[in-house]
Order: sequence, then structure tokens, then C-alpha cells
Amino acid sequence: MTPPPAFRATVLTLYPEMFPGPLGTSLAGRALAEGRWGLESVHIRDFATDRHRSVDDTPAGGGAGMVLRCDVLAAALDSVADGRPMLAMSPRGKPLDQQRVRALAAGEGAIILCGRFEGFDERIFEARPVEPVSIGDYVLSGGELGAMVLLDACVRLLPGVMGAPTSGEEESFEQGLLEYPHYTRPVTWEGRTIPEVLRSGDHARIAAWRHEQAVHDTRLRRPDLIERHGGASQAPPSGARRETQGEVK
Ligand code: SAH
Repeated sequence: MTPPPAFRATVLTLYPEMFPGPLGTSLAGRALAEGRWGLESVHIRDFATDRHRSVDDTPAGGGAGMVLRCDVLAAALDSVADGRPMLAMSPRGKPLDQQRVRALAAGEGAIILCGRFEGFDERIFEARPVEPVSIGDYVLSGGELGAMVLLDACVRLLPGVMGAPTSGEEESFEQGLLEYPHYTRPVTWEGRTIPEVLRSGDHARIAAWRHEQAVHDTRLRRPDLIERHGGASQAPPSGARRETQGEVK
């Protein structure tokens, strides 16, 4: 008998057929098949109590759309609660970041509530330890894709899932920086040649160049990251331009 996976995800949704979906392919899918993580989807409608099996109702105070009922949501949550963190996908939540993903991946998994329509009756957040989590400043039509984003980010960090065990350490957000740019063969393509330093074989120079590029791109595209990580210690980039010929992004 194989032991149950250390990281177990339970997704509460009105569309259980959306799972595993993309999480059943590639890295996450292989890991799922190998039992490195577990995934269960639970139909919220199974916890409806009235004769019409309704899960939503009109918003108090008026307005467009429908709101998910807290009694139904609570019954669904209570049926699977076992100490794992309970998250609700919501644009009103704290934005997900790599630090949070790392913390979740180090734990036993998560119970994830997916919204639809206008979202959840707010009282669910008072009555149960459910934390709203956003995947970014835009509005999706449902929480399922958000849950998949969150789970994909966690699963790739689980032991044995990523090819090279070190390939996570230099990645974007790990040092408060975006990752440096990558290149591969052909050496020259449409008149653009891979930066000379990367072909030099000088590992110290390569490391310095990569750091410089990471700082440069982060300043340009994500000044908020530099700000947040007290980026004053990051040396200003000396070579602002990439060494490729032709247009520079
Ligand atoms: N009326 C809500 C949006 C509801 S969108 C508002 O303006 O805040 C319907 C559902 O999609 C939400 O309940 C949530 O589960 C999901 N969703 C939408 N955008 C999301 C985001 N940025 N992050 C996570 N979940 C999101």
C-alpha cells in the first residue's frame, strides 16, 4: 500500500468536472499520477438543503447577480475540514505570492473554495477560518482557474516534482527579483547573437552579468518588488543594454 500524499488539495466548486483539467497534464499531472500530491473535488451543490438544491440567492440590498449562500458553503467546508488551511478564491483577498506558495507547499495541502456569480456571503469569513486569496488585480468568472493557478504553483515545489532540485532557487521572486533572461541555440538567429558573456565559460562573469540583468529588468518592470525587498542593496545595473544586436526590449 502506498501512503496517502503529504500534500492534499480539496477543491469545493460548482464545476467539479473542471478538475484535474490542466493539472492532469505535464509536471503536475505526472506528480498526481505518481501520488506525490492528491486532488479531490467536491460539488458544493451536494450541500444544498432545499428542494430546489439552490446554492445562491439575490444580493441583500439589491444589485446585479447572485450570491453564494453561507449555510451551503459552511456545510461543504465542514464536511472536509481537517486542519488544512481553508482558502477562498476572491479578487477581494490578499494577492498570492511566491512566499505564500512556498508556505502552502510545505504544509499538508489546502481546502479551496471556488466562487461563482458575485461571490460569497461575507459571513462565511466570520464564521469559519477561511482566508480570501486573490491571484491578481482582475476579475475572473469563477474561482476554479484561480485554484488551479495556486495548486500548480505549489505542486511544482513538492519534493521530487521538478526535474533539477536546484532549479527553483534562482527563479523569479525568490530573491525579490525577476529572473535573468535566458538564451539557447541557435547562437545567431535573425541577426541577433547570444550575449558574449554567456559563451565565455567564465562562471563568475556569467553570475555577475545575470544578477545585473535581473536587477535591471526588475527595476524597469517591477519597481514594486525592489521597493518591497529593501532593494537599496541591489547594485545599480552598469550594462543597461542587452548585448544582442538589434532591437532591445
Ligand atoms: N463580484 C466580485 C467578483 C466575483 S467573480 C467582486 O467584484 O469582487 C466570481 C468568482 O470568481 C469569485 O467569487 C472568485 O471565486 C473568482 N475570482 C474572480 N476573480 C478572482 C481573482 N482575481 N482571484 C481569485 N479568484 C477570483
